[in-house]
Amino acid sequence: MIQKVKCHCDKELELDIPEMIDLDSKADLVSTITSGQFLASICGFCGATVRPECQLELRWSRFERPIWLVPEMDRALVLHGKADAPKSHEILVGYAELIERVNVLRSDLDPKTIEVIKYYLQSKAEETDTDGEITVLFGGLDTNRLQFRVSGYKSGETGLLHITMEKYLEIKADFKRLSLTEPFKMIFSGGYQSIRKAAVLET
Ligand SMILES: [Zn+2]
Repeated sequence: MIQKVKCHCDKELELDIPEMIDLDSKADLVSTITSGQFLASICGFCGATVRPECQLELRWSRFERPIWLVPEMDRALVLHGKADAPKSHEILVGYAELIERVNVLRSDLDPKTIEVIKYYLQSKAEETDTDGEITVLFGGLDTNRLQFRVSGYKSGETGLLHITMEKYLEIKADFKRLSLTEPFKMIFSGGYQSIRKAAVLET
């Protein structure tokens, strides 16, 4: 499928993007996601890196179900339940969420437990920075601790928070009970299972 992408230099590029990508089909595909080079092309006019903003189906043996990747610019549609995604697929929005998911699965962690931890971290950060638009993303494992990147502080700073593996396992063991209570019941319903839905309900 040919996708037209506008570069910063105002030139329009035509990129040939498959409608479905199987991450098991090529050895280095998963690494291109974590390095931020997934689907990236170089603009022939100015040399900048450009990436398509299109919907895309992704399959990988490590995904629980196929992923329907929606571009960041369509986040509002997803948050309001208006994304045009197949019911059988899980929705992720934007490359940052895709990178996070791949990092979580490569670290042999459970995406839903990670989402619960992010909810607690985000709530805590929002207590101290009530004007910010806090976003928390899993950043990787760091000597048996889970690392999370926090951005959106009013000051413009980003922060790193760590959770011990013991704490992770404790929350994972309690997940079933937690998932039946709000806001997790709402967060883990439907195709898009993200704590970013909680912020929409609050406003
Ligand atoms: Zn360009």
